[in-house]
Amino acid sequence: MAPVLQRMNDFAQRLLAWFDCHGRHDLPWQQQPTPYRVWVSEVMLQQTQVATVIPYFERFMRRFPDLLTLADAPLDEVLAHWSGLGYYSRARNLHRAVQQIRDDHGGEFPHQLEAAMALPGIGRSTAGAILAIACGQHQSILDGNVKRVLSRHAAVAGWPGRREVEKRLWQLAEAYTPAERTADYTQAIMDLGATLCTRSKPRCGDCPLGGDCQAAATGRIAEFPGKKPRKSLPQRKTRMLLLQNSDGELLLERRPPSGIWGGLWSLPECPHDQDLGEWCIRRFGVAPESARAWPPLVHTFSHFQLEIEPWHCRVQPAAADQVMEQDAALWYKTHLFNQLGLPAPVKRLLGRLEEANEEFDS
Ligand code: SF4
Repeated sequence: MAPVLQRMNDFAQRLLAWFDCHGRHDLPWQQQPTPYRVWVSEVMLQQTQVATVIPYFERFMRRFPDLLTLADAPLDEVLAHWSGLGYYSRARNLHRAVQQIRDDHGGEFPHQLEAAMALPGIGRSTAGAILAIACGQHQSILDGNVKRVLSRHAAVAGWPGRREVEKRLWQLAEAYTPAERTADYTQAIMDLGATLCTRSKPRCGDCPLGGDCQAAATGRIAEFPGKKPRKSLPQRKTRMLLLQNSDGELLLERRPPSGIWGGLWSLPECPHDQDLGEWCIRRFGVAPESARAWPPLVHTFSHFQLEIEPWHCRVQPAAADQVMEQDAALWYKTHLFNQLGLPAPVKRLLGRLEEANEEFDS
């Protein structure tokens, strides 16, 4: 036997041995596992914990014991039995799908993967689970629990929502799914993900896959599965001025009471379409003697990213006296800045200024 195949078999064997001793064997949908019962349980479990699902499943089965009863029931009643589980599109899709089966498949759940996947609300993993568990077919699954187990075990980097990551995980899922005891294996890997290989604090010491789990061996469990990349935020730009007089004081402006950094003292911001020198004269009555651009600084807010272009300008003390009279602007001794509530990027710029002044003084 090829070594790779041996390892695949070994993976399934260890999982099945663990399942026989520690897996869950008494869940309601494991009794009389018809396609319909397995399907309803899979749909209910998609966003919901097992313990929450059990009473809902039992109530649902009492009222809609088979596919045709559900298909003939009014949607309102189906939704009423779903009430409290949330994600009602699951119930609506289920209802539409059973009606399609009643009308187009003679009331029998289709036994071909593609036909099952063509039904509303049934993806490849759900179809695979139903056909494996209820029909004993050699099909693989890749639900959230399985993605977590496989991505950790093989240290598959990247967010599983990305096509190439998902493809790699499906390859692993298919490679490890044994042709024998497929139903038990399917339940086993779901159980492992739900009970041992949990999102936080997995119990690796008890895990049958611990011996060759790459994430556990390298202490990188928290990296897998990879996180969804944050959407790129809109970009904004501003030009912040560090106007410094010959006494070393810096001009601060109070920001408007509402909006970003509302009411805080901050650095003056000169619009990009304005001439910096003219704007300073018009706004503060000072003409910069020198103006030097510093490397930009990026500050991230929850809903946008601000690129700050800092300019360090030296100005005359006479001009400073005029500004002192304004309410919303003042000259501040740089060593007193820690007494003010300042926006984080302004603090960073003041740190840079301190370094620049040390260089300048020395
Ligand atoms: S060893 Fe730990 S991280 Fe690896 S599969 Fe098992 S429980 Fe998950």
